[in-house]
Amino acid sequence: MTDSADIRMMERALELAAQAAGAGEVPVGAVVYRGDEVLGEAANARERDADPTAHAEIAAIRAAAGALGTWRLDGCSLAVTLEPCPMCAGALVNARVARVVFGARDPKAGACGTLMDICRDARLNHRLDVVEGVLADRCAALLTSFFAARRDVQAAARAESGMSRRAQRRSSRGT
Ligand SMILES: [Zn+2]
Repeated sequence: MTDSADIRMMERALELAAQAAGAGEVPVGAVVYRGDEVLGEAANARERDADPTAHAEIAAIRAAAGALGTWRLDGCSLAVTLEPCPMCAGALVNARVARVVFGARDPKAGACGTLMDICRDARLNHRLDVVEGVLADRCAALLTSFFAARRDVQAAARAESGMSRRAQRRSSRGT
């Protein structure tokens, strides 16, 4: 069930995601909170940090654990714009986070109900409540426009390198 803090925290996660997009990162933002209190927040920084584990959720969980001085995030919720992947869902279980609230589903890596359901797997030693679809349209639109813009840039780069190759061929023929 969604509560009013969930929407506000997702708004903040969307802001963080939009900032990441501006820095060339896949736009995903995450906030760890308890009640109305933000304990940690982060955006995806995989390119900046050259780190495959630098997902928004992992960094937000680390920040919250640092703020609380404990690895146990009992009673905390994490809001994230995109459904967590297996790594991040595993981190949520390990951190004993109580609830995960996500926006858009991830058909390629989603591990909170789409491809698998690590957060609600009864074989694991901790389970989370999963709330999905919060501001989902905005979360998905951010990703869609990011990838569309990146395709445009790549197409422009290909067109440009094609032109310079043609120019080189012309110059090597002496024309
Ligand atoms: Zn992840």
